[in-house]
Amino acid sequence: MFPFGIDFGNSSTVVSCFRNGAVHVVPNEVSHRATPTLVGFGSEIRQIGENAKAQQMFNLTNTAGNLKRLLGSEPEELKIVRGEDNWMECYSGGDDIDVHFNYRSKVRIFSATQLCAMYFNKLKTNALKETGSPMTQVCISVPMWYTQKQRTAILNACIIADIRGVRLVNELTAAAVGYTAFNVAEFPNGNQPKIVAFIDLGHTSYQVAIAAIRKDKVDILGCAYDKNLGGRDFDHEIVEYIKSLHPESDFSDVKFLFRALKSAEKLKKLLSANNSTNTTIEASDGSKDLYIVMERKDFEELIVSKVLQGSRLENPIVQALSMAGLKREQVQSIEVIGGSARIPYIRKKLTEFFGKPLSSTLNQDEAITTGNTYIAGMSSRKQQITIVDGPFTDVSFQSRKQEFASIKAISDHDIKPVADLKQMDIDNEHKVIEAKQHNVSFCEWTTPEYIGTIRLQFNINESGLYTVEVCPSFEKPDVFEMIPSTFELTNLKELKNIEKKLILEDESVLENENMKNALEEYIYDFREKLDGVYQNWVDENEKQELLSLLSLKENWLCDEGSNKSKEVYEKEYGQLAIRGDKIRNKHLIYEHNRRKSYLEKVAA
Ligand code: ATP
Ligand code: MG
Repeated sequence: MFPFGIDFGNSSTVVSCFRNGAVHVVPNEVSHRATPTLVGFGSEIRQIGENAKAQQMFNLTNTAGNLKRLLGSEPEELKIVRGEDNWMECYSGGDDIDVHFNYRSKVRIFSATQLCAMYFNKLKTNALKETGSPMTQVCISVPMWYTQKQRTAILNACIIADIRGVRLVNELTAAAVGYTAFNVAEFPNGNQPKIVAFIDLGHTSYQVAIAAIRKDKVDILGCAYDKNLGGRDFDHEIVEYIKSLHPESDFSDVKFLFRALKSAEKLKKLLSANNSTNTTIEASDGSKDLYIVMERKDFEELIVSKVLQGSRLENPIVQALSMAGLKREQVQSIEVIGGSARIPYIRKKLTEFFGKPLSSTLNQDEAITTGNTYIAGMSSRKQQITIVDGPFTDVSFQSRKQEFASIKAISDHDIKPVADLKQMDIDNEHKVIEAKQHNVSFCEWTTPEYIGTIRLQFNINESGLYTVEVCPSFEKPDVFEMIPSTFELTNLKELKNIEKKLILEDESVLENENMKNALEEYIYDFREKLDGVYQNWVDENEKQELLSLLSLKENWLCDEGSNKSKEVYEKEYGQLAIRGDKIRNKHLIYEHNRRKSYLEKVAA
């Protein structure tokens, strides 16, 4: 069994495993190293990853993307989270986001957690096929701003997908661990740590971490982010530019807008390597296709004036440095990752900011998954890397109804849970402790029946989740019952069963399709052979009768028999095969005898 890492991205996800002493990216079913983060619902079957991408344009409202952002989002964030590059119908469903789909002729509602579970299940199945190893030890990276609610939601998605042994890590912390473990980092100042800036500009967001790296320790000193700055913003601005050039085109047509966004992304990528490029956007309504030419300098002007204004690129770096208590000159290496960091203008600005060249040590697309994979297998390794990460998020604990007892959470932590001892008065009336983050309740604990002072210990586990226990010094040690507010465990069981049922339905549709294809192939093959190798074994009458039978079956497959069960196709196949086998046997006996007499002749 191999340890796995999953870099769960908003546009694509990379899975890797540790085997034979190295990290290997697990290719998907079409041999790509990254899998589109999309879940689609066809008329009969779910399409996940590559299949969803292939069908997306024809199934826009039934395809869900930006899954990592949807998960655990607050209702007021919904519009920005979904963006204008997804057309699924989302609503706030209380604890989770609900997405409505048209699936199997019905409106079906799935939560963001369920959609993530479907996606993870696909990754798990593919990994098993490719490596032979089940996913029982896995590290998944999440954005540094992921709240307790979002971290719980992603772990719930893993439970629904039956993925065990999961640990979460912040994305840039994973990159830093990968850098430490696999990069022959030089330590020019003896025992002094190396100060490294990790910068990730992806599809939807931007993150910065300043880390102190030692051979056996990664210490995240400061971090900051812009949740809503990424490659998709550049694509949207290119589309706005195209709109201004072609006001006659109907951008309210979602298929056309989708094609325009894809063309914009293509232009953007080509402009990272060329000074000028062009693309064509196919028109929907029979009108003329749009031919777009763009220069790199036009693209740069566009993003500077529309997306990066107000030092949007520099601000998070300044904040992270200030949290770390460091000056930009003290940063020894600048490691830039994420697809959008390929844009030459971005690289130029970062180089100017730090006053030194960017490093190219890390693989931009695989640095995070590499770190995840290393962390997943760390417990079984002799050499450990200590990770000191910071949630840097504001968590408060309150005894419900008890106004004065508000307790601040610990501010930073190690991967080994660090305890913070707090005292809290709890009586029988106020025995529920509620934990809140950004004023949103994410967890509740019920205390045992007890009157008096209880000493509580707040812990943060290695996935960045808070737990609470009665302090060991308490005479009657007792563990609190933890009730996560997002889902009750029974609810998860139910969701797990729904997922299992959906998998069985998909498998059954696939089996039907496979049998239908087999029957179709048999018809074509039989028809061809009647004019070829079988022609000596059927007389003209039988041949004509068989040809009209084959046409009849072919028409049936296109019409009334287009959507039948595997059993029905098997029966039809069996009936044709009885006729076909009789002729085939005559042909085989003839061939056998011919070969036998040839060999006898040669022997004589
Ligand atoms: P997120 O970080 O939001 O979760 P992600 O991890 O899926 O998303 P990445 O794979 O890091 O995102 O980056 C994808 C983005 O990078 C897309 O917007 C894509 O268009 C952009 N991109 C990829 N290659 C290039 C390139 N050569 N030039 C410019 N942009 C590029
Ligand atoms: Mg990313």
